[in-house]
Amino acid sequence: MVTPTERGDGILKTALYNFEQAACRLNLGETLRHKILAAKERIEMNLTPVLPGGRVPSVKAFLVRHNDALGPAKGGIRMTPDVTLDEVNGLAMEMTWKTSVIGVPFGGGKSGIQCNPTELSEEEKEILIRSFTRGARRHIGPEIYVPAPDMGTNELDMAHIRDCISYSEATSITNGCFVTGKPVILGGIAGRREATGKGVVYTVLAMCERLGLDPARLRVAVQGFGNVGSVAATELVRRGATLVGVADLFGGVTHPDGLNVETLAEHVRQTGTVKGFPAGGVRPIEPADVLELDCDVLIPAAAGSQLTAANVERVRARIVAEGANAPTTPEADDVLNRRGVHVIPDILCNAGGVFVSFLEYTQETQREQMTQAEVESRLAERMTQRFDDVYSLAQKQNISMRDAAMNLAVSRVVEAVFTRGLLP
Ligand code: NAD
Repeated sequence: MVTPTERGDGILKTALYNFEQAACRLNLGETLRHKILAAKERIEMNLTPVLPGGRVPSVKAFLVRHNDALGPAKGGIRMTPDVTLDEVNGLAMEMTWKTSVIGVPFGGGKSGIQCNPTELSEEEKEILIRSFTRGARRHIGPEIYVPAPDMGTNELDMAHIRDCISYSEATSITNGCFVTGKPVILGGIAGRREATGKGVVYTVLAMCERLGLDPARLRVAVQGFGNVGSVAATELVRRGATLVGVADLFGGVTHPDGLNVETLAEHVRQTGTVKGFPAGGVRPIEPADVLELDCDVLIPAAAGSQLTAANVERVRARIVAEGANAPTTPEADDVLNRRGVHVIPDILCNAGGVFVSFLEYTQETQREQMTQAEVESRLAERMTQRFDDVYSLAQKQNISMRDAAMNLAVSRVVEAVFTRGLLP
């Protein structure tokens, strides 16, 4: 078994560590471990799009299909300046467990484009996304790998991917679902954009019920005010919670009596950051300080490896709801568990997005549009049900929710591998 000091804190190392622990608990043999551990495909591409003005940058892009025993690989496209093939590999592995634990017939995949989206014009970003789509085309498809938005990419980028594929086929639509998280007008599903953040909230509400906490009295701190963080914050405030602090890459703000989330969102729409939010009584903080605010619920909804051995002792929340992927290093996780902090693990907590992506995938095959009300009720039901499964297993086996979620997820993948049989 790997010991905490050998692990490091990268996303891939965290994913490998969590898998090794689950493999030990489940007594998986060496061959099976290797079959499941190693990614089926790890691709590095070099994109050379021709940008307006004739500039031809060289941009690295990555695509990993980790496992497809349960179905086609599913996972978003991350566009950040420092994304690496290993990070994409770790995130793809997380997707294998996430799709398994939330119970959708997908495997795990992920893509990365090494670029800062805030430095691109809209036109440049569209050209880069189309360049990625051409480069990755033979690895994308309803039966192979179905991308979606992740950090740095959005609905419009997904529209351009879909258009690029149908354009190259000279058809109006694609034959089946090649990408999820599209705008509704192009076959997307109502409520996909909010699904991950709302899913996070359903797991927080389920945890409150177990702990006898009133959601209307919760004090909440959120790291990241993008898709996941802003929706989770808005939904919790709508239920009466107090938003005591928020941070993004550029800065943070806190108010002991609560931030007005609507005017904060408007400030972010206008300036691109929570920094400088001008309301009365608001105090600026450094981005990392949001993790240490006095609160009941902390929602890391930004990057990976944010709660580490260096800061975890100063975390004051009772509940940590992992909106981001792999925000907690194994060392920090050990400390949180020892201190009795209730961690809702990422593969469960932020699985609402991939669940609604699955609804979009089926909707596209059937050419029928689901209503937002239908989507929301199915999301609420699935998140609550899977939370209960994981929570009950954790109680029964006296293990953490992360360990219980991993046990469930890995067992289902193992069962699929065996049921498929032994062809290479
Ligand atoms: P986003 O690009 O919309 O927003 C990211 C936010 O995090 C921004 O406010 C950014 O400024 C902030 N941020 C980034 N690095 C930071 C740092 N080091 N410190 C403080 N703030 C930082 O991204 P998103 O879609 O909201 O994704 C956030 C996280 O949730 C990622 O880990 C992503 O993998 C995960 N996730 C997203 C989805 C989805 O449907 N979008 C689904 C599952 C998991």
